[in-house]
Amino acid sequence: MAGVSRLQYTTEIRLIRVMCSGRVDLEFVLRAFSNGSDGVFIGGCRLNECNYITEGNYDALNMVLLCRKIMEHIGLNPERLRIEFMSSGEGILFTKVMNDFGKKVKELGPLGKGEEIDEDELKSKLEAVTKLIPYIKLVKREKLALHLDKEEEYNELFTSDEVDRLFREVISYHIDPDKCQACMICLKKCPVEAIVGGKNQIHVIDQEKCIKCGTCFEACPPRFGAVKKISGEPVPPPIPEEERTIVRKSKKK
Ligand code: SF4
Ligand code: SF4
Repeated sequence: MAGVSRLQYTTEIRLIRVMCSGRVDLEFVLRAFSNGSDGVFIGGCRLNECNYITEGNYDALNMVLLCRKIMEHIGLNPERLRIEFMSSGEGILFTKVMNDFGKKVKELGPLGKGEEIDEDELKSKLEAVTKLIPYIKLVKREKLALHLDKEEEYNELFTSDEVDRLFREVISYHIDPDKCQACMICLKKCPVEAIVGGKNQIHVIDQEKCIKCGTCFEACPPRFGAVKKISGEPVPPPIPEEERTIVRKSKKK
C-alpha cells in the first residue's frame, strides 16, 4: 500500500518478499548479517489474522525473540533485528516503521563497528552460531512453536541465561574408536551423511557436517556403546584414516 499511495520511506532497505513471515528462518537472518547487513526487519501479518491455519507469524516472532538473545550472546546489539505485524493496507504504518528502523540502524552504525567487535572475530562468531542452527532449532523446538498471547510474555520466552547455557552446554557426538565395531547402523541412520565409515572401518563423525541430532547415539547397539555424548569439553580428533581398519580376531594369524 505504501508504494501505491506514493508514501516515501528510507531508500536504504532492500525488500525480499516471502509468502509468509514464518518462512524467514534463523539462518536467513544470520546470513544477512554475515553478508554485511546492518539491520534486519521482518514484517508479518497481524497475529491471529493469518489467512491460513499455519500462523507462521508466531513462528517468525519466536525465531526473532531467540535470535535477539543469540545476538546479545555474541555481542551484537539486538535492536538490529526487528519484527512488526501489520496488514497490507497499513501503508502509513509501514512507512513509519521503516523510517524508524532505518534511523535506529544508522544510530547503531555499521554491524560490529558499533559494538566494537573486530571484523574477523564477528565473522567467526557468526559462522560458529550458523553451524549450530540445526542444533538450536532442535533443542528449542517446543518454545519456537509456542503461540504467545500477551506481549509481556515475549521478553520471558527466551532468557539470556538460557541462551548462554545453550552455548556452554552444546552437545557433540564422538565415536570411540576402541569400541566401534563397524556395524554401519549409525552411518545408515545419520540424516545428513555426517558419518564416515564402511565395512571393517572404524566410523568417524565429520563434526563440520554433524547437526547434533543424537540419532547415532540412540542407534549404536548398547553392547557396543561406541557413540559418546560430549559437553563442555573438546571433541577428540578423528582417528587417522590409515588406522581405521578393524582386524577381526578370526582373521588374525
Ligand atoms: S548426531 Fe546426528 S547428524 Fe551427527 S553424526 Fe550423529 S546422526 Fe549424524
Ligand atoms: S553403530 Fe556404533 S558400533 Fe556400529 S558403526 Fe556406528 S559407532 Fe560403530
